[in-house]
Amino acid sequence: MPCRSSDELNTLVAKAKKCAKSGKVADYIPALGKANQDDLSIAIHYPDGRCISAGCIEKRFTLQSISKVICLALVLIDRGSNYVFEHVGMEPTGDPFNSIAKLETMSPSKPLNPMINAGALVVTHLIKGNSVEERFQRLLSFIHELTSDSTINYCEEVARSEFETAHLNRALCYFLKQHNIIEEDVEQLMELYTKQCAIQMNVLDLARIGLVFALDGVDPLSGKQIMPPDVARICKTFMVTCGMYNASGEFAIKIGIPSKSGVSGGIMGAVPGKFGIGIFGPSLDEKGNSIAGIKLLELLSKNYKLSMF
Ligand code: GLU
Repeated sequence: MPCRSSDELNTLVAKAKKCAKSGKVADYIPALGKANQDDLSIAIHYPDGRCISAGCIEKRFTLQSISKVICLALVLIDRGSNYVFEHVGMEPTGDPFNSIAKLETMSPSKPLNPMINAGALVVTHLIKGNSVEERFQRLLSFIHELTSDSTINYCEEVARSEFETAHLNRALCYFLKQHNIIEEDVEQLMELYTKQCAIQMNVLDLARIGLVFALDGVDPLSGKQIMPPDVARICKTFMVTCGMYNASGEFAIKIGIPSKSGVSGGIMGAVPGKFGIGIFGPSLDEKGNSIAGIKLLELLSKNYKLSMF
């Protein structure tokens, strides 16, 4: 078991926080630029219901790319893995998350994986439902089930800010549409995707979701199997191979915890069979990962031998 107490976590947070100054908050989505570079918080959720935490744990932040792994779980449940992987691949890219380059040269012409934006847009387009509103509510309900918190919603300001400035994501959508990978109206898909990315929660909620992935889809507190073990396994595998953008290889070597990060500075970790981790630290490194969040995970992994490899 890692830290026994929140005091131990506080010490690690103080250490890791020092590197926040050398990063930068994301501002390509204008509303994200308002984040406080010095924030750093963590929660660890254990199967017996205990949760230890440190930092500004009540502060809510938007999921951004962390939503991709949750949306993938829902779509795998909705459609089954054979159908999903006819539309999106399983291979890491080594390119930045929003790159368009490989879409033009790959064969067959489908995005390489569901964690890059092109692949995530395809996955979001596969959420079942009759309208954007109904599909979004289904994703939100899934998140309510995973967190046992039905107050979770999306941040309208961040969703609007991204919707108004998402030129590159629109370009990806038009490319996908031109190649018949998506059928949907681009503006509709952008509305759904930007709302999905703007779903906000705190590190306690995020750690709770990480715990469900860690326990092969079971919520230990209710005893309910929220997703089939196979879905949790596929999601965790993508977290290892592509969860930390084009730094996933180095992260696997140095830290070895299935994790997914987002440009708002969140990281969700799932230590298989053991516990879930939620981190928020909006100061990012050049690849788009929380700089202090990675430091914190590195300290935890080294001190408590958490690498799965
Ligand atoms: N909403 C963001 C985008 O599509 C998510 C990016 C991220 O967190 O990696 O640009």
